[in-house]
Amino acid sequence: MSMAKVKGRPIVELGFLEKTPSWKLRSKFFPSKVGGYPAWLALKELPTYEELSCRRCNKPLVFLCQLYAPFHDKSICFHRIVFVFVCREPDCSQDNDASNIRVFRSQLPRENEFYSADPSKDIELGSESPGAGDFNNLCRVCGARGPKTCGGCKVARYCSKDHQALDWKAGHREECKNPDTVSKVSCKGSDTFLFPEFEIEMEPEELEVAKDKTEEEVMKDYQELLRSGQVTHQNDDDSDTENDLVDMATKETDKQFQKFRTRIMDYPDQVVRYDRGGEPLWVSTSNQPVAMPHCPACGEPRQFEFQVMPQLLVHLKVDNPGKSIDWGTILVYSCQDSCQQNKHYVEEVAFKQDYSPIPHIMKNHPHNETN
Ligand SMILES: [Zn+2]
Ligand SMILES: [Zn+2]
Ligand SMILES: [Zn+2]
Ligand SMILES: [Zn+2]
Repeated sequence: MSMAKVKGRPIVELGFLEKTPSWKLRSKFFPSKVGGYPAWLALKELPTYEELSCRRCNKPLVFLCQLYAPFHDKSICFHRIVFVFVCREPDCSQDNDASNIRVFRSQLPRENEFYSADPSKDIELGSESPGAGDFNNLCRVCGARGPKTCGGCKVARYCSKDHQALDWKAGHREECKNPDTVSKVSCKGSDTFLFPEFEIEMEPEELEVAKDKTEEEVMKDYQELLRSGQVTHQNDDDSDTENDLVDMATKETDKQFQKFRTRIMDYPDQVVRYDRGGEPLWVSTSNQPVAMPHCPACGEPRQFEFQVMPQLLVHLKVDNPGKSIDWGTILVYSCQDSCQQNKHYVEEVAFKQDYSPIPHIMKNHPHNETN
């Protein structure tokens, strides 16, 4: 058997949140980050308003995160960033349905029209340039294209009436009377719309325990989990077939969920797993994608690139049970060739997987307190 390097143990890169001053997370430093405005890579031909709209409610999406992920063996991908956007509307967040999430990649060679070929100096002064604001009017609320101008102050720019209305309510109504005080780059509306901003620091996953547990070990873990009372288990005396099936389904799914939990135990704070061409860490055995559409431009297959973990939700200040956006995990698939196209932002594919059917089972079979 060959011991090819790539066949051994692929290294997964894990992303962790870091509080970093905003100026260090601007475009010229090629950041990986969560929240705030997107730090656009290519500074022209930003995604259009339609591309950045929710496919369910048609409202503008909010920037979730971006990962700096160059392909070292491909000069056109010397710089490469993948951006993830999500709809803030809780009703648009449906189980195993990613129509409220959209993903774009942008890439540049080392010599390009926007940035110097060498790294920028790490200083705050001038950190906003080069930036997308040098080439575009940007929406003060979301940081996307802002073709609409406030009729009052003629300074504030917006992507849409939605964001103009949001900013108006958030304080622009007052500010608008003094156009000199209106900032082009930030506003109060963005505080209510954008997610809190963090840098994402990547580091390799080093596993303490063997990665692949045997079926028996996983089953043992599962039984221990049941014994500890963390998972609802029906202590059924009735041999009702339907209940047996439900029970079996629960066990099967919990096994994968338990694998998921075991795998993240050493690094409970991970918010991203980067493993290009690898196997995602599924949260469930059900609802895995069967066929990913090939890249429409070059025809190459799309491959798994990274996943956003549920732990990130905790930091987004959206956890209002039953009334917030949610995911088990968001998987991002991209053209395996990362092909060059005739535009700067190419849409790729997001897949959303949710815990299933555990929440359903727990809802319908509440734990019997008298047991
Ligand atoms: Zn929506
Ligand atoms: Zn906007
Ligand atoms: Zn105004
Ligand atoms: Zn392609």
